[in-house]
Amino acid sequence: IPWDSAQLHLLSTAVQFGASVFEGIRCYETPDGPSIFRLPEHIRRLRDSCRIYRMPLEHDEATLIEACIETVRRNGLRSAYVRPMVLWGFGAPGLYPVGGSPLESYVASFPWGAYLGAEALEKGVDVCVSAWNRAAPNTFPVQAKAAGHYTNSTLVKTDAIANGFHEGICLGPDGRVSEGSGQNLFLIRDGLLVTPTLDGTSLAGITRDAVMTIARDLGIEVRDQPVPREMLYAADELFLCGTASEVTPIRSVDHIEVGSGGRGPVTEAIQSRFLAIARGEAEDRWGWRTPV
Ligand code: PMP
Repeated sequence: IPWDSAQLHLLSTAVQFGASVFEGIRCYETPDGPSIFRLPEHIRRLRDSCRIYRMPLEHDEATLIEACIETVRRNGLRSAYVRPMVLWGFGAPGLYPVGGSPLESYVASFPWGAYLGAEALEKGVDVCVSAWNRAAPNTFPVQAKAAGHYTNSTLVKTDAIANGFHEGICLGPDGRVSEGSGQNLFLIRDGLLVTPTLDGTSLAGITRDAVMTIARDLGIEVRDQPVPREMLYAADELFLCGTASEVTPIRSVDHIEVGSGGRGPVTEAIQSRFLAIARGEAEDRWGWRTPV
């Protein structure tokens, strides 16, 4: 579908109620051509999101994988953001789309640079702990990447920006650290890498998994555990990670400088390995690259 014709009816169920699931995937330029990072894992999560939301996805994973590759190829992109979506289209006026609205699947791809700015990868970002919490686990199934969940994320993000920060960190309903508005979070204390456990308030990020794999390979001990808020202020290093944000250091939280206020050595080691693998500059040890 040409860009200008990619339209949807105003009263589609997805538009009215956020009834869609999606993925965000990055395709990197590598010396061997464009390469999509962890594509099968993203498509598996898309399928899982459909199952959780009882969406009868008609395409198998191989078809969706091929569709992502083809969109990048046909758009002639060297690097890209790839956005598969499964959504309830136009038909049913109410909350029950089955039988009334069609379930539609699309894949878009377009160029998108560093999410938090090119400088952020090196210098880090200033974040706040948001006044908006993540919802309790029995409210939204956050392992599904559903558009409706992102009204919370947009509150967190817009509040953070309105208050002069780059990004906001959410606490869960129990007051412990959950994740960023669209990223998972890691902290380093005495050489140990710690990330909030997946407690039903945060997304099981694919970058989070990549970071843990890389860290272990670098000989860094990784702990997945409940994280009290104050650990953010006492951390030696902090970083956000996600497909869009990649590995972005945090230089301050609530105006309290993190460590020495820049990108710390552990963050830098993990970030450079991550980017080297994604960009095809390091061996693809874990089979994370899909050539276009
Ligand atoms: N948490 C949220 C809320 C997100 O939107 C994202 C981005 N998809 C992440 C974490 C990071 O997930 P991933 O590494 O799979 O992109």
